[in-house]
Amino acid sequence: MELTLHVLGSSAATPTRERNLSSIAMRYRNKILLFDCGEDFQRRFVEAGLKFNKPLIILISHFHGDHIIGLPGFLFRLSLNDRKAPITIVGPKNLFLYLYLHKKILGLKANYPIKIIEIDHISKKLIEFSGLDSEVPKNQSKIQENIIYSSKYFLIKYTLVDHSVITYAYAFIENPRFGKFEPEKAKALGIPESHLWKKLQEGEIIEHQGKKIDPVKEEIVGPKRPGRKVTYSGDLCPSKSLIELGKDSDIIIHEATFAKNLKDIAQEKKHSTSVDAANDAKNMNAKQLILTHISSRYQEDASILLEEAKQIFPNTILAKDLLRITLN
Ligand SMILES: [Zn+2]
Ligand SMILES: [Zn+2]
Repeated sequence: MELTLHVLGSSAATPTRERNLSSIAMRYRNKILLFDCGEDFQRRFVEAGLKFNKPLIILISHFHGDHIIGLPGFLFRLSLNDRKAPITIVGPKNLFLYLYLHKKILGLKANYPIKIIEIDHISKKLIEFSGLDSEVPKNQSKIQENIIYSSKYFLIKYTLVDHSVITYAYAFIENPRFGKFEPEKAKALGIPESHLWKKLQEGEIIEHQGKKIDPVKEEIVGPKRPGRKVTYSGDLCPSKSLIELGKDSDIIIHEATFAKNLKDIAQEKKHSTSVDAANDAKNMNAKQLILTHISSRYQEDASILLEEAKQIFPNTILAKDLLRITLN
């Protein structure tokens, strides 16, 4: 099942000619996950060829303008479409209020199912609002094992990281998957190519002509293999909690605002350098590192960030807008 990342914005703080503000999209099955919504990311959303009518999960790392200002504009746009697919938006406390004010002042409406979930790290609770009409939460639940979203195919976990305001990092963790599908074996058992094949591919036991067929026992699919994991750092200075969250990630998308000679500014502003990002990737035993949230001072040439990181963590890529990475 395809899992593709699209960089929609890779700049820190101010947009440049080549880079929009922070936003990364991930296509998985029928859904789109969005990590942060920098200003005007919807333009890149179009350029990346992403579809506006898919179910969406939007994960906001923190309330700095360069990560959230694009969200209301995007929701306005969706309300112009004949959208039916649901949206879940997750972020720190006050996320509901932020959108509610856009409703009150600018007339933002959500004529599609929308769920807003605030993570209250202190009480370890998820506070869930349904729609933009009622300020009263619909539901509150205790967070278990840092899981903030779960579905049949994947989980999303969060952690608090060290930045100048409350900031969360997120990890997408796919459930273990079944191995390679052998269509010849299915045919040999007399199962025609149909919806049943799809079930078999998912490892489901099916009933065919009165007989139960277990695709694993019959070796129609291979044994389970670990799912994929993608971690998104948000803005942060080095944080142990990120290493724990991102352990064994296939991809870590990590901010690298500064080169290593600006380490002091990075520390003062609670950001990371290229070297911090590379050390984090190495310490979490990630397979690949994507550097993003690049300061505008590198707009002519950001190669120094890549070179510095690669000396510590060779499998590093420097994000640029509209970069696409597929994880098989
Ligand atoms: Zn930022
Ligand atoms: Zn920030």
